[in-house]
Amino acid sequence: MDAVLPAHDLWLRILEKVENEVKRPHFLTWFQNTAILSYHDGLLVVGVPNIFAKDWLEHKLGGQLMQAIQMVNPEVKEVMFEVDPQLALPEDNRALDVNKLFSKEKKMRKMPGRQEVRLLEGISSKCLNPKYTLQNFVVGGSSRLAHAACAAVGQKPGAMYNPLFIYGGVGLGKTHLLQATGNEILANDPDKVVVYMTSERFTNEIVEAIGKRNSKEFKDRYRKVDVLIIDDIQFLANKDRTQEEFFHTFNELYDNNKQIIISSDRTPKELDQLEDRLVSRFEMGMIVDVQFPDYETRLAILHSKAREHEVLIHPEVLEFIAMNVHDSVRELEGVLIQAIAQGQLEHSTPTVRSVAKIIKKLGRTHLEGFDEPSEASQNRSFHPEDVIELVAQHFRLPQEELMSDSRKGHILLPRQVAMYLVRHELGASFEQIGACFGGKNHTTVIHACEKVEKQLRRDKNLLRDVNSIKKEMGL
Ligand code: ADP
Ligand code: MG
Repeated sequence: MDAVLPAHDLWLRILEKVENEVKRPHFLTWFQNTAILSYHDGLLVVGVPNIFAKDWLEHKLGGQLMQAIQMVNPEVKEVMFEVDPQLALPEDNRALDVNKLFSKEKKMRKMPGRQEVRLLEGISSKCLNPKYTLQNFVVGGSSRLAHAACAAVGQKPGAMYNPLFIYGGVGLGKTHLLQATGNEILANDPDKVVVYMTSERFTNEIVEAIGKRNSKEFKDRYRKVDVLIIDDIQFLANKDRTQEEFFHTFNELYDNNKQIIISSDRTPKELDQLEDRLVSRFEMGMIVDVQFPDYETRLAILHSKAREHEVLIHPEVLEFIAMNVHDSVRELEGVLIQAIAQGQLEHSTPTVRSVAKIIKKLGRTHLEGFDEPSEASQNRSFHPEDVIELVAQHFRLPQEELMSDSRKGHILLPRQVAMYLVRHELGASFEQIGACFGGKNHTTVIHACEKVEKQLRRDKNLLRDVNSIKKEMGL
């Protein structure tokens, strides 16, 4: 079980079973980027990318998982979860991309083994995760310069800021910016050969090349690269041979006006375990930092991520998260995602109280703004059916009409109002709302919410209606 592929296959088979038992959003959220770390004497250790996944798998989905495991391999007696942050990195090829499990055709394909991500033939931008774009990076004061530099490089790689060196603490968006720049370059010119990797992977490649005595092949391969992106360069510390190779690769690419982008957790000067000549190369280009975003930017990031997940969480709850998560954007996002998933599982909307619980798990004891959660957030144990009932009463319509497909004006508007309220006051996703209203398409719901929002700005009567329903809801 030590080899990578058998473990990978075993995990794949287990997850195919779990997939049938667990709701799709949960499956996607919690089993993404998981892998078997080890298996000995009946104890299966499963690696997960973060503490939230560990918590969920242990407490909520452990039973279903164990059942699935028993079906595949009854010899497994116990399963343990271990956080392995490496798994969160998109190019970690032990990690399982669960999205792949959903297509029959892809199911037949072998899951990626180590070979596939190698730099050989298709040198490839496979390692770039399309979810990272320059557009969905929220620009705040602290990251404006970094974002602008990436955008410039995205337009004209190799022309201006070369190398581009981005530094900053953990979870502040370096990988996002690096990958987004790679994606941007490819979007502008799909023929460009963009290579993204962490310095650890780069080291592995070199060690292997040396082992096989084919460092010439290694060098040739890198000559074909147009854009070389190395994430977390600090891990090259003390690896002399790798630094040496990297130095040559760097010079070769640089002399040919190929773009080099590097990230690090500190400035070039502070990389004191790196050879001076390498550090001085880094200093030749553009050096920008990313810092922890201020409150407004954090809030904007939360709004943007909530939109990406197609859920609307009460602004107050987002403000509460923005106020209380201080360490990294990754953590900010983690709290949000857990709040969303919990809401989906329990068919409720995240409240300040439920989110406070999640944040406390991170070890925070004092939470800003928690002692007096507002009346509104406390009362939000409403369900969509309650809202439908209140709206129907208010407009003196039978509830069924609200759920029907009728497009008559005196029914359509109240239905849209009800959708709007469920969205804004309960924070349900467009899809959930569609389902509550007799299986309507989510675009219908989006349209309804937008329409009501607009109309509320100029239609005093409608505003009065909505306010009076809200009052009934205790808001
Ligand atoms: P780092 O590489 O610096 O450790 P990441 O790039 O992995 O951090 O960022 C962690 C998470 O936070 C990612 O999911 C990323 O999309 C998100 N993130 C960080 N900064 C921003 C931002 N300004 N706008 C949107 N998302 C961000
Ligand atoms: Mg990173």
